[in-house]
Amino acid sequence: MQIAFIGLGNMGAPMAINLAKAGHSVKAFDLSADALAKVKAEGSQTAASAQDAVQGAEVVISMLPASQHVEGLYLGRDGAPGLLASIAKGALIIDSSTIAAATSQKVAQAAAAAGLGFIDAPVSGGTGGAIAGTLTFMVGGTDADLERARPLLEKMGKNIFHAGAVGAGQTAKICNNMLLGILMIGTSEAIALGVANGLDPKVLSEIMRRSSGGNWALEVYNPYPGVQEASAATRGYTGGFGTDLMLKDLGLAQESAMSVKASTPLGGMARQIYAAHSIAGHGPEDFSSVIKMLQKKG
Ligand code: NAD
Repeated sequence: MQIAFIGLGNMGAPMAINLAKAGHSVKAFDLSADALAKVKAEGSQTAASAQDAVQGAEVVISMLPASQHVEGLYLGRDGAPGLLASIAKGALIIDSSTIAAATSQKVAQAAAAAGLGFIDAPVSGGTGGAIAGTLTFMVGGTDADLERARPLLEKMGKNIFHAGAVGAGQTAKICNNMLLGILMIGTSEAIALGVANGLDPKVLSEIMRRSSGGNWALEVYNPYPGVQEASAATRGYTGGFGTDLMLKDLGLAQESAMSVKASTPLGGMARQIYAAHSIAGHGPEDFSSVIKMLQKKG
């Protein structure tokens, strides 16, 4: 299958690489030359622009930071035309970025008017899951569009959930990430408390992992450097899920909560904590660096 892949960051690059490894013809585009070089070295063709990437594509996949990037790409920005006009009629768009459900619905409507299919398919599983091809996809869209996408999603992930109509994948994703943001802070608090009391972070983490406090952060994403070899913390909080991206997701969760008058006190507090962490200069670092706020200095 001929695939255009737009957005080759921490997540998009390994996802595009897995599709190319599975034998698909992938034409990739990113604003960053380094990102393009990385996927080229692993079997994808690269394009000079998004317009160039979608020529002849049956499926267009996007993995961009936030709502404004997705809306700008497909619908146009600052007088520049949107990409929808350049995609062949009948093609399917799979947007895996985590964005506002309302933006997914807006882009899906414009795509339908242009004769294109659209699903929102945000993911969970982190960069480790993207590299291993074990992501969880949360899909919003029609049954027919999901079935068209499924063979490709199966090359990038192992769990594929149909959450509902367009936008439902995004709603599921921000509920999940609100919980993840909260549990990373809680896990960090617990480890920092134990270490301040003289415990070995490895020993404490293993105790909690196998006890009632066990959670995904303790399984695969420990925030304390050196506890897990493959964690972002051990790599100096690089190459994972940025604090600013977590902050964006917690903002989306709060907007969603306000729209239905839901009470999300811990989600709101978590957003404030990541905002303070970002303001202190940690926005580009992995979100697990939030433990730095809680660690005893000196
Ligand atoms: P990232 O910042 O590493 O990568 C984003 C990429 O998009 C960059 O390479 C950037 O150059 C590119 N880009 C931006 N605007 C563009 C445009 N107009 N055209 C082409 N390329 C453009 O982000 P990421 O960590 O890969 O995350 C991508 C999305 O996935 C976000 O919505 C994030 O919330 C979500 N997500 C991330 C993780 C994670 O662990 N990193 C996990 C699940 C979901």
